[in-house]
Amino acid sequence: MGITNPRDMTYIHSYGGEAIFFESLGKGKLMASRCDNPDCESKGSIFMPFRIHCPDCLMKNTVMDITDRAKEKAIVHSFMITERTGAFNTLPTPIKFVNVEFEGVCTILMGALIRGEPKIGMRVVPIFKTKDPDYIITDMLWVPADWPAKDLPEGYSY
Ligand SMILES: [Zn+2]
Repeated sequence: MGITNPRDMTYIHSYGGEAIFFESLGKGKLMASRCDNPDCESKGSIFMPFRIHCPDCLMKNTVMDITDRAKEKAIVHSFMITERTGAFNTLPTPIKFVNVEFEGVCTILMGALIRGEPKIGMRVVPIFKTKDPDYIITDMLWVPADWPAKDLPEGYSY
């Protein structure tokens, strides 16, 4: 025997120290973080995805804007194409996940290439959902460099 009791729940959570990253996406900015601890062997390491604390010394990282670097010097490190969308189920399939490499950044960021076909080493640029942002990671998507601005998804811009 089973009993069905419908529930309706609103889950409220905070991004805490990562809030600046998600808030900035909606403003067309990509924020990374950097360890500035002079006693850390990894001093100067830049992290994207954004890390609140340095994984090596555990000190709080410095927030830095890498928007220009992302627009000028980001390439596809590797990629995969899948029919499975992951948590949000909002991206059109097949999804082209790209692992994006930034010059001078010691980590790799996974994102979705929303136009064109991925190739290893190709230059890509971020686009941002600056119109009615959702404050989630899909506020930033990727397109091949020099993709025409008139052919971006609705609400997104360079
Ligand atoms: Zn450190």
